[in-house]
Amino acid sequence: MLSRQILQKITIRCFANDAIRKGLIGMVGRTPLVRINKLSDETGCEILAKAEFCNGGGSVKDRAALFLIKDAEEKRLIRPGGTIVEGTAGNTGIGLAHMCLALRYKCVIYMPNNQSQEKIDMLKTLGADVRPVPVVPWDDPDNYNHQARRFAESVENAVWTNQFDNTANKKAHIETTGPEIWEETRGKVNAVVFGTGTGGTLAGVGTYLKDKNPNVQVFLADPEGSVLFNYIKHGKLERTPGSSITEGIGQGRVTKNLAGAPIDDALAIKDKDAVEMTFRLLHEEGFFVGASTGLNVSAAAQVAKLMGPGHTIVTCLCDTGQRYYAKLFSRSVLQERGLLDCIPESYRSSLH
Ligand code: PMP
Repeated sequence: MLSRQILQKITIRCFANDAIRKGLIGMVGRTPLVRINKLSDETGCEILAKAEFCNGGGSVKDRAALFLIKDAEEKRLIRPGGTIVEGTAGNTGIGLAHMCLALRYKCVIYMPNNQSQEKIDMLKTLGADVRPVPVVPWDDPDNYNHQARRFAESVENAVWTNQFDNTANKKAHIETTGPEIWEETRGKVNAVVFGTGTGGTLAGVGTYLKDKNPNVQVFLADPEGSVLFNYIKHGKLERTPGSSITEGIGQGRVTKNLAGAPIDDALAIKDKDAVEMTFRLLHEEGFFVGASTGLNVSAAAQVAKLMGPGHTIVTCLCDTGQRYYAKLFSRSVLQERGLLDCIPESYRSSLH
């Protein structure tokens, strides 16, 4: 009974259409849809982006985090005061930790032990019990995701939210991000393009918009070293060369969230283009964002070229540059990776 009450409160807060957002949970969704001005003027297309860093936990993953918890409550897998367990190295963990504080759950995060100290420190500050474990591939039983599942199974009143294969993640975007884009553009949207980690954003938004208008084109933007570009183009799970500076996107398999998504085409985006766009967004538009956002917007500019002027293309600004300050905004890191040259000299003032 109690869990039903909590669920209803979340639903009301999530969709309340009033100006006052009720607590942190009320700050998930209904993010601004912003026009990327200079790029839109240059391409003759409307390049629009959902500012997902405006969500309460600061990233695109807050919507999924809330829906994964809602799903566990709905299925009565967790009762008040229980423990949310997830395998995550990034934004999903940060999102879950925020939601857990607001909803009074405990939060346990398993992550590979090669992650930055900043991420570990931030999760700890957010009250999560962080468990770094050795880096092993998905098919090894000791992979951090499997450890998360086993731990949740071994503890009373705990649930493994399973962001990759629990389609409550995609549902978040079918029920919130997709409808928001449709309403905010008044149905005038020709294409969407997103980089993909779990696939929740792309599959959810794509599914909703295609249902509204089958002519909306859905593009997957893939970073270096991921298999999804080749999967969409040639049906093969073959990695493209390189290993990307972007975080949170790129995949080695087809997750349940991505499977069956209505994708029209894929674009392989080089790090040099993603990083160049990250710095253009900062210096030309004033958006301090991470590299997956640079990749998204770079891909949107490519889609604009493919489609020609007069089209409306929507993507998202996933999170802020603050989360990657040590790496993405470091002169030496960019130099080591051969990425310094793609940033115009006059924009290098933001490097440390
Ligand atoms: N950008 C960043 C920074 C992310 O952390 C994620 C999620 N891993 C994404 C983009 C992609 O989101 P999704 O998991 O919905 O594919």
